[in-house]
Amino acid sequence: MKINKKVPKRVRPKPGGSVRAIRKDALRLMLESSRGSLPNEFGGILRAYDGIITEVMVLPGTEQGARAALFRFSNLPSDRSVVGTVHSHPSGNYWPSGADLELFDRFGSIHLICGHPFTIDSWQAYDGRGRPRRIEVIP
Ligand SMILES: [Zn+2]
Repeated sequence: MKINKKVPKRVRPKPGGSVRAIRKDALRLMLESSRGSLPNEFGGILRAYDGIITEVMVLPGTEQGARAALFRFSNLPSDRSVVGTVHSHPSGNYWPSGADLELFDRFGSIHLICGHPFTIDSWQAYDGRGRPRRIEVIP
């Protein structure tokens, strides 16, 4: 993944700090999209309302990697419902890479990584510093 070094670091408070849960439908969509994008990465944007992630905006995966598209979305900070990102790791490892940590630090404050085989348990949430965060899955 290429990072555009010219993009200034955000100075405003990050949205998404109070996210505490994700709806099961949204979780299922991101896991299915991860499977459907194989062997490529899938990437998407998370929307939350009242602290609950209800929507995953799917970005088409490409050979170049989905995170380049995520970075373009990071230039749209005005919509407060956009709280973070989700992307897949076809390798199955769902720990953030160095590039992931740079993305997390720059944009949003809740980030999900889904790892192969993309079952209901093979994902992890992280905060903007890359620290694992527990969020609830709700119906
Ligand atoms: Zn990653």
